[in-house]
Order: sequence, then structure tokens, then C-alpha cells
Amino acid sequence: MADVVLRNIRKRFGDTTIIENFSLDIRDGEFVTLLGPSGCGKTTLLRMIAGLETIDDGDLLISGKKFNTIAPQKRKIAMVFQTYALFPHMTVRENILFGLKIKKASVATMTQKLQWVLPLLDLIGLENRLPRELSGGQRQRIALARALVLDPDVLLLDEPLSNLDAALREMAMEELKRIHHQVGKTIIYVTHNQVEAMTMSERIAIINHGRLEQYDRPKTVYDTPRTVFSGQFIGSPPMNFIDGSIVVSQDNIGIMTAIGFVLLDRERTPCVEGMIGRKVRVGIRPQHISYIEHRASRRSSDSNFELFVELVEVLGDRSLIVGRLGDVVLRFLITREAELVPDQKVLVFIDGRKLHLFDPDTSLAIC
Ligand code: ATP
Repeated sequence: MADVVLRNIRKRFGDTTIIENFSLDIRDGEFVTLLGPSGCGKTTLLRMIAGLETIDDGDLLISGKKFNTIAPQKRKIAMVFQTYALFPHMTVRENILFGLKIKKASVATMTQKLQWVLPLLDLIGLENRLPRELSGGQRQRIALARALVLDPDVLLLDEPLSNLDAALREMAMEELKRIHHQVGKTIIYVTHNQVEAMTMSERIAIINHGRLEQYDRPKTVYDTPRTVFSGQFIGSPPMNFIDGSIVVSQDNIGIMTAIGFVLLDRERTPCVEGMIGRKVRVGIRPQHISYIEHRASRRSSDSNFELFVELVEVLGDRSLIVGRLGDVVLRFLITREAELVPDQKVLVFIDGRKLHLFDPDTSLAIC
């Protein structure tokens, strides 16, 4: 059993507070990702869990026991770093067994662990190679193998895929998921890449400036972002935002914005009852804006707007369109069959069932 609980953690470097009142509970065997932009404090959190960084305030509990000041080597925690930190002069076998050797494990134990981990990570045949004779993906798997043979209760992974190219990263993500499924360890994974977080995690902790913005399953984070930051950080292309206020127009409730009245679907209106006149920030995912030629019949809860096409970015199977109306810029996607060109006028529909409403002052979701 190794559940990890962070309770009101605070961390300062000099006069700067890096982590503020940070709480998180990670269940035994869970795959949790700490996701946030560069410098938000993800690695610092991981290092505090590993015991490589002191905790200024709050508690770190592992399996219910306070671990704040317990030495790193007594934590049964293994960490894989972004750089992998393999020893260049040691073979794959020696690298994998290094930690066990330090712990003075028996030859029988080392042989057994090696026999277990080599097929698990698809490393058979590479045992006698040096790190420089391996690809980035293979090096990453060796770093992982070296951590796994120590049989840690908790595995900490700090951006382990960031040195891989796109194709290798896809494969490595699938592999990590499979390994987690097979070994059932608690994994805490750090990344600024939302695709990695969405693909692999059971829960994602979104972090901004050392504070927890949202902690939920990937689908929940995508469908119901709790803050403007969560909405912005998850999803690609990023969510569009327009400011406005809640109004009633011809018996319909919606948001009056700089591009006009954006209708809210009737099923969504109960949550804004009593809020008429209130200022809101509307979040609209590019996937919920559609181009007229894509839609055989429009829904009654759609609002339509005429935009000018500013930019067309070909993404492959789809294209991203940057559209503008006055000062408002809206990004949306079209299929490759549709041909739009800059300066063209285009009619788009915004899906009134899919609007996200936030309080512009607190940045918290209203509904
Ligand atoms: P990245 O994704 O770029 O690795 P991160 O989210 O992991 O970023 P951290 O490495 O945890 O961020 O750093 C958080 C903040 O703390 C940064 O502003 C960093 O400059 C600062 N910081 C980290 N370590 C130290 C240190 N030892 N002394 C002073 N400041 C530090």
C-alpha cells in the first residue's frame, strides 16, 4: 500500500513562495500527473516527495505515515529524471542493476529482477550495450527499468518523454500505460504536455504558480474546467474566451458579447438563474464552433456569426481557422474538404450547449 497525501504544503526559495497551501491525495496504485507550465513548481513537488527538497510547511503522508523529514533512501521511492542520468561507462545490465548493487542485493535477486524487467520493457538483446549505443526511447526504458527493479512503492517520473520525437513519444506513452497496468505501482508523473497527461493519467492535477487549479479525471477536466486556467491549458487548439454579461433577449437567456448575443441552451439556463446582468467570461472550445457547410441542419441552441478569416493553418486531416470579428478572435476547425482563404467572410455556429461560463474576477467556473 502506498497512497501519497500532500496536506497544505508550502515551499519557499529565499523570499519567493514557490508552492502555496498545496493539498493532493493520490490513491495506492493510481497514475497521477502534475501538469502545468514551466516554472509552476511541478519538479519541486516531486523532489519534496522524494526527500530531495525540504518541506517548509504542511505534511507529506505516505501510507498514512508522516514522511516530511525521512531520508530519501528510506522512502521506497524511485525517480526517473528527464535526462535519464544513465552512467555512460556502464552497460545496460550494469545500469539497471546499479541501485540493487548499492543495496547489496544477492546475485540471485539481481538475476531474477533482470529476467523480469528485460521483457517487460522490451530490452532483451541490449544488455551489453552502452547508453551511447541506444536510441532515446531505449535509454528512457532503461532508466525506467533501473527504477522498477528497486520495487518502489511510488514511482516518480519527471518529464521522462520530453527528449523523444513525436512518434517515439506516442509509443512510449502506450508503453508506460501498459507497464503501469502490469506493475500496479503508484505513479506520479510530471509534464507540461497536456496530451501526455490526458492520455496516460487516471487523474490530473493542474498547477499554476504553485497552486492547484483542478484535480480530476482527464475527461472531467476537459468537459468541466473548474477555472479559466484549466480551460485554457487543456484542449488543443486552446479554448476561445470572450467577455460579456448574462442577458435576456426575446425570452432567451444568453451572453451579450462584443460579437453579439451568444445563446445559452435551455438545459444550461437554470445555472444562471438570478444572474441576469452579471459579467462573465465565456469559454468556447474550437471544436464547438462549426462552419456552416459542415452542418446539414443547425440546432435551435446555436448562435451564428459572420467572421473574417485571418489565417488558415493546415493541421493534416483538419485545418485551424483563425477568424476575427472586430477585436474578437475565434479559432475553430474545419475538415480538409472545406477550402477557406484569408479575408473571406464565413458564417459559423457556436454550440449553445457547450459554453463554459467563468467569473472574470475569480476565474472560477460558474457553470
Ligand atoms: P519545468 O517544467 O520548467 O521543469 P517546474 O514546474 O518543474 O518547471 P520547478 O523546477 O519546480 O518548476 O521550479 C519552480 C520555481 O522554483 C521556478 O521559478 C524555479 O526557478 C524555482 N526554483 C527551483 N529550484 C530552485 C532552487 N533550488 N533555488 C531557487 N529557486 C528555485
